[in-house]
Amino acid sequence: MERLGLGASEGIAYGKAYLFVGHDLEVVERKVAQPEAELKKLGQALETSILELEKIRTITLESLGEEKAQIFDSHIMLLQDPEWIGQVQTQINEQKICAESAFVNVSQQFVAMFESMEDDYMKERAADIRDVSDRVLSHILGFKIHDLSLIDEEVVIVARDLTPSQTATMNKKKVLGFITDIGGKTSHSAIMARTLGIPAIVGTEHATQSINEGDKILIDGETGQYWINPDSKTLEKALLKQKELDQKRKELEVFRGLSSETIDHYKVELAGNIGTPNDVDSLIENDAEAVGLYRTEFVFMDRKTMPTEDEQFEAYSKVLSSLNGKFCIIRTLDIGGDKKLPYLHVPEEENPFLGYRAIRICLDDVELFKTQLRALLRASVHGHLGIMFPMISSYEEIAQAKVILKECQEELTHKSISFAKDIKIGIMIEIPSAAMMVDTYAELIDFISIGTNDLTQYTCAVDRMNGKIEKLYNPYNPGLLRLIHLAITKANEAGLKSAMCGSMSHMPLIVPFLVGCGLQEFSMSPSHILGSRKLIRSLNFKDCQNLVSKVLSCRTSEEVQSQLKSFQGL
Ligand code: PEP
Ligand code: MG
Repeated sequence: MERLGLGASEGIAYGKAYLFVGHDLEVVERKVAQPEAELKKLGQALETSILELEKIRTITLESLGEEKAQIFDSHIMLLQDPEWIGQVQTQINEQKICAESAFVNVSQQFVAMFESMEDDYMKERAADIRDVSDRVLSHILGFKIHDLSLIDEEVVIVARDLTPSQTATMNKKKVLGFITDIGGKTSHSAIMARTLGIPAIVGTEHATQSINEGDKILIDGETGQYWINPDSKTLEKALLKQKELDQKRKELEVFRGLSSETIDHYKVELAGNIGTPNDVDSLIENDAEAVGLYRTEFVFMDRKTMPTEDEQFEAYSKVLSSLNGKFCIIRTLDIGGDKKLPYLHVPEEENPFLGYRAIRICLDDVELFKTQLRALLRASVHGHLGIMFPMISSYEEIAQAKVILKECQEELTHKSISFAKDIKIGIMIEIPSAAMMVDTYAELIDFISIGTNDLTQYTCAVDRMNGKIEKLYNPYNPGLLRLIHLAITKANEAGLKSAMCGSMSHMPLIVPFLVGCGLQEFSMSPSHILGSRKLIRSLNFKDCQNLVSKVLSCRTSEEVQSQLKSFQGL
C-alpha cells in the first residue's frame, strides 16, 4: 500500500529499514540475588562500548583528523578508569543492586564532582562522562546504540526526527535514504539531505509506528510516496524512475562550463549552498560559479563546546582556499529555530523561530560574534570573501554588526595580522520589514540574499517545520512574490547585488519569474545547478519580464501557478 509524506530530497531509495528511535534510559533500582550476573552484564556493556568507541575513533580519524579522534581516546580511558568502575562493582557486590542502578549512582556522583570544579577544562569533562555513561547504560539495558556515522550496511533510516547535525554526519555511502515523522521541506535536515544528495521524505506523521526494523522500504523523495515491503511491480516501476532520473542527470552534463544566460544574453550567476567544508567537492562537481551561502552553524554543531577562533579559521580558510578565487558568501552564526547548540544554554522558548536567534544572539554575546568575525577576517586572505548577517530586521542591527566588525579589523591591524580589504558585506532578507527597507539599508551593504525559507514563514505566518500546515507554506502566494519582486527591484536600483539563497531559487516554475525580476545570483543545493542552467538558457529575458507583470496582478496562488505553468507550456 502506498503511503504519503512530503518529498524533501529527490531520488529513489530501496533498502532495509533502520529504526532510529531513542529509548528511555530511566532506571528503577532492583535488588538482586546474584551479583555475579550483574557484574558480568556490566563487564560486557563496558567491553561493547569500548569496541564501539574504537570504531568511532577510526572513522573520525579518517574524516576529521587526529585532533578530533583523540576525544574518543579519552572516552575509552574513562571507561577503563579503575576508580569509577571499581566503585560500581563495589555497589553491586555490597548493596546487591542491579548493574544499571549501581552504574547510574556512581556516574551521577562523578558528573556532579566534575561539574563543581573551578577549572573550565575539568567542568567540560562532566559532559564526556555523561556521554559515555549513556552508551554503557544503553548496553546494560540491552538497547541498540544509534550512531548514524557508524552504520555499516545499506539502510533506509526511519526516524521520528533528525537533527541537522545527525543528517550532516550520516555515512553517505551506507544511508540510502531517510524518512521522518515530523519536519517540513525546508527544515534543515531536509536541506542537508538535498546537499548530500540523499533521497528523503519528511512529515509522514507515523512512519516510525507503521514500519518495523528490517522491513523493506521504498521511498520516492520527489513525490513523498513510500511503500513498506512493496510488491515487485511497484519496485520495478520505481527503479525504472530512478534509471530515468540518472539518464536526465547524464544529459545535463552538456551544460557544464556553459554560461548561465538567457537566449537574449541576460546573464545570471548560479551559486551553491554549503554546510561544511566537505560540501565544496559537490559544489565543484556540479559546476557552481560561486558559494552563495555557507551556513557556518555546522562548525558549531555536533560538539560540546564553542569552536575556538583557530578552529573556525581552519574551516573557513579550507573552504575559501579550495574555491580558486570564486566568490564565497559566508553567513555569520544563524543558530536557533531548528538548529540548537546545547552549550549555549538558550532556555526553551514558546516560538523559537521568532525568538532569541541568529544576529540577535551575536549582537548580545559580542565575544562569540567577535571570535567568528576575527576568524573570518583572518581567513579572508585565502580567497574572495563576502560576510553575510542573517535574520536582519532593522537598520540598527546592520549598523551595530558593522561597528563590531570594524572593531575586529582594528584589533587585527593592531596585531599586524592581515585580512582582505575588499570584503563585501551583505544581509539576508528573511523578514518582511527588511525586504521593505532594502533601499534604505543600501548605504550600509553591498549585497542582499533573499532567504525564502524564512521569508515565506514570516510573510505567510506558517511554521516551516510544521508538516501539518505545509499547504499554507506556499511559494506561489502572490503577496510573497510581490515582496520578493520589491526587494530585488530595490536592491538593483540601489546598485546592490541581488541574490537568493532560499529553496525557491531552484524551483523550475519560479525561476523565470525571478529572472524577470532581475535577480542576479541564484544560490541552491549543488545538485540543482546544471538543471537550472539548462532552464535559464531556454528563457528569453523580455518574456520573463512580461511574466512578472502578469504574476504581480494575480489574486490567488492558483492564478499564479497557472500563469507560471502556461509560460512554460505546461
Ligand atoms: C532561508 O531562510 O531561506 C535560508 C537560506 O536560511 P536557512 O534555511 O538556513 O534558515
Ligand atoms: Mg533562514
